[in-house]
Amino acid sequence: MLQSKICNACGTQYPSHETLAICPVCADDRQAVPLETGQIWTTHDRLLKTHSVQILALQEHVYQLEVIPKFAIGQRAFFILTDQGNILWDCIPLLDEATVAFIRAKGGLDAIAISHPHYYSNVKNWAQTFDCPVYIHEKDKQWIREEEERIHLWKTNQKSLWNGMQLINIGGHFPGSSILRVPFLSPKGTIFCSDTLFIAPSMKHISLIYSAPNRIPLPRAEVKRIKKRLDDIEFDTLYGFWKYQHLTKNVKDLLKVSFNRYLQ
Ligand SMILES: [Zn+2]
Ligand SMILES: [Zn+2]
Repeated sequence: MLQSKICNACGTQYPSHETLAICPVCADDRQAVPLETGQIWTTHDRLLKTHSVQILALQEHVYQLEVIPKFAIGQRAFFILTDQGNILWDCIPLLDEATVAFIRAKGGLDAIAISHPHYYSNVKNWAQTFDCPVYIHEKDKQWIREEEERIHLWKTNQKSLWNGMQLINIGGHFPGSSILRVPFLSPKGTIFCSDTLFIAPSMKHISLIYSAPNRIPLPRAEVKRIKKRLDDIEFDTLYGFWKYQHLTKNVKDLLKVSFNRYLQ
């Protein structure tokens, strides 16, 4: 049987019937087809032989899931536990037996929510395995290539989940780019920002990007709009998509300084 194929550069999975020379996600300005290798495809079965998922507790109710050794973009997903159900924030392109067993032992998944198309990965497999809905913003629906009945497109500028958790559509990087706010993980709320807010390696700057790999900034008007949107959201902690991206101190001040660089 023909298998779904996974792009080696971005980790997006496509149905076996798609005859693609180049991955559309990588052909887009927000990613790139690697110059040295060109387009390479792999499969989930092949990945299972060479990679695994490392699960790390970041705090009592938050686990980081990461494919090791690094594969494709190398993002982490977050498994967040609550007393009314668990959520997976963002997705990674590998789902091995140990990960399934770990998540099941913690009560399974009640939902998956994804920040933007770079992390759609093989979410269809995750949704089917855990039989849960996948929340994706409707503005990015053109990027969904593997159809799945469990995908729920949400349309408003925010969506309430359980235990006070909220999906908030910020836009910028992609029109549907969204963040997850979890109110109970820190005093003023924790934001899982993916690359909607890109925390710099110095930890002293937060970038707003159209494309990180191609260094394409966002228009000033977009920066202004996003600043206004974030001013109304309370938070004191940020978790980004790479494992160093964890900010807990003076987050709003840092954001202000960062926005000033764009708007001065
Ligand atoms: Zn790709
Ligand atoms: Zn991205």
